[in-house]
Amino acid sequence: MDNAAIVTTDRLGRDQIARRRTFAIVSHPDAGKTTLTEKFLLYGGALQLAGSVTARKNLRATTSDWMELEKQRGISISSTVLQFDYRGYRINLLDTPGHKDFSEDTYRVLTAVDAAVMVIDAGKGIESQTRKLFEVCRRRGVPIFTFMNKLDRPTLDPLTLLDELESVLGIAAYPMNWPLGTGFGFKGVWDRRTRMAHLYERTERGAYRAPVLTTGLSDPVVRDRLNDDDVYRTTCEEIEMLEGAGAAFDPAAVLAGRTTPVYFGSAINNFGVQLLLDGFLEHSAAPGPRMTQTGLIAPTHRPFSAFVFKIQANMDPRHRDRIAFVRVVSGKFERDMTVTHVRTGKAVRLSNAAKLFGREREIIEEAWPGDVVGIVGNAHFAIGDTLTEDPAIVYDEIPRFAPECFAYLENPVASDFKRFAKGLAQLLQEGVIQSFELAEAGRRAPLLGAVGPLQFEIVKYRLESEYGVASEVRGAPWTVTRWLDPAASRENLLVPTGACLASDAQGNPVLLCVDDWQLRYFQDRNHHVQVSDQPFTP
Ligand code: GDP
Repeated sequence: MDNAAIVTTDRLGRDQIARRRTFAIVSHPDAGKTTLTEKFLLYGGALQLAGSVTARKNLRATTSDWMELEKQRGISISSTVLQFDYRGYRINLLDTPGHKDFSEDTYRVLTAVDAAVMVIDAGKGIESQTRKLFEVCRRRGVPIFTFMNKLDRPTLDPLTLLDELESVLGIAAYPMNWPLGTGFGFKGVWDRRTRMAHLYERTERGAYRAPVLTTGLSDPVVRDRLNDDDVYRTTCEEIEMLEGAGAAFDPAAVLAGRTTPVYFGSAINNFGVQLLLDGFLEHSAAPGPRMTQTGLIAPTHRPFSAFVFKIQANMDPRHRDRIAFVRVVSGKFERDMTVTHVRTGKAVRLSNAAKLFGREREIIEEAWPGDVVGIVGNAHFAIGDTLTEDPAIVYDEIPRFAPECFAYLENPVASDFKRFAKGLAQLLQEGVIQSFELAEAGRRAPLLGAVGPLQFEIVKYRLESEYGVASEVRGAPWTVTRWLDPAASRENLLVPTGACLASDAQGNPVLLCVDDWQLRYFQDRNHHVQVSDQPFTP
C-alpha cells in the first residue's frame, strides 16, 4: 500500500480509539464466565441490562428458532456483543458461547478481540477447554488476563494455580493480588501495586457492588477479619515471599502475550471484580493495527475498514434475516455510508446496521475502531470479507480450525435433493461447518467436519427449519485433522489403517485420523510430508 495514502484521523478519532477496549472472556464451562460478565456490567453501570445475560443463559422468554434449539438442548448458541461505558472507557465485550461442544464461532470471535480474560475455577485449575481457547489467543499474540474465580470455596493452593499456568499453558504468571484467606474464610485480596488489603463484605446474592475496606496489612482489622492467627501469619509470609522473590511487573510482556497478570476473587460475591476490571483496562491496549495482504493498517487510517468475523442467520424469526458481525479496524463507521465489498468489488450501502445487546437491537449511527457492528440482511457477506472505503485494503483470511469431529449428512428424500444441496451450500458459505471429500471415492453423502458435534445438529436443524428438508447425521470416526503440505509428494504415503486421505473444500490435501496415535504413526513413517492444523498458505 502507498504510504502517502495513509492519513490519520483527527483528534476526535484518536480519543475515540484510545478509550476503546475490545475483548472476550474465555473459560471452561461453569468456571464463571457468565457470572463475571454480569458483574462487569454491574460495575459498568449497565445494571438494568445485566439480567439479560442470565436471561439468555436460563433460556427464559425466548422466541426465535435458534432459541428453540437452545431451549431443547439447554445451551446457548448465539453469541452477542455487549457494549458499555466504564470510567471513560468504551468497552466491547464479545461473548463466546461456552459449552462443552465448541463451535467455530467461538474461535472466530477470538480473531476479532484485542485481549482476553481467562476465567479459571480455582477449585479445579486449568481445564481442557481453557487450554484450547488459550491456544487460539496465544497464536494471535493477544494479551491474556487471568481471573482465579470461586475463591469463596475450597481451592487449589494459589502457588499451585500459578505453577499450572506456567507448566500447562506455558505462559509466565504474575499475581497482581493475593488472596486473604480461602473458602468460607476468604475475606479479600492484597493488592500488590498499592500494597493495600481490600476487605470485602458479602451482599445478598452479589446484587450490588461489595462494600470494600482498604487498609494496610498490619491493621488489626485484617487479622480480625481473617479470624485465625495462623491464616493471618501464613498469608503475611506468603506476601512477604512474593514481594521478596518477585521480578518486577513488566507491562510490555503482558501486551506481547508472554505474561498473564493474575487476579484472585469470587465473581458471584463481587470480590476482586473491580480490581480485575481496573487492572485489565490499565494494562490492555486500545485497538491496534491489523494485517492486510500488503501490510498493517492502523486504526487511525482515515478510510473506514472492517472485516466480517461472524455470521448469524435467523436471529429474529419475524424477519428471516442474516446478520454479519463486522469488527471496525480503521476510520469511522457512519450509518448509510457506502463501502466496497472487496471480495466481489461491489459498492454496498450500509443502511441497516445495528448494535445488539442481548436480544435488543438498536440502530447504530457511528462506530469507531474496536467496535462491532451487525449488518442486517446482506446475503453476500461471508466470514473474513473486508468492507472498506479504501479498496486497497484486504484483510487476511480468518484462520480455519482443524475439525475434531466428522459426520456424513444423508438426504433421505431423493426428490428434495436440490433444496438440500442449496441449503447445505448456504450453510457452508456461512462457515457453520466445513466440507471434505475422501480421496477414495464411493460415498455419496457429503462429509462434514466441525470443531464440536453440536454443529451437525445445527446444520440438521437449520436445513429443516429454513429449507424444509430432512437430513440424517451419521457419525464418522475421525477426531484429528491435519493439512498436508501440498508441495510434498503424496505417492507411496504410509497411511495407518483407519486413517484416510481427503481434501477440503478448496482442494487442499488433508489427513484424517481416528486418534493421536495414528497421527504419530503417519508422521513417523512419512518424514518428508509436513503437517499442520491449519491449511498451508499458497
Ligand atoms: P459459565 O458456564 O462459565 O458461564 O459459568 P457461570 O457463570 O454460569 O457459573 C457456573 C456456576 O458457578 C454457577 O452456578 C455460578 O453461580 C457459580 N459461580 C460463579 N462464580 C462463583 C463464585 O465466585 N463462587 C461460587 N461459589 N460459585 C460461583
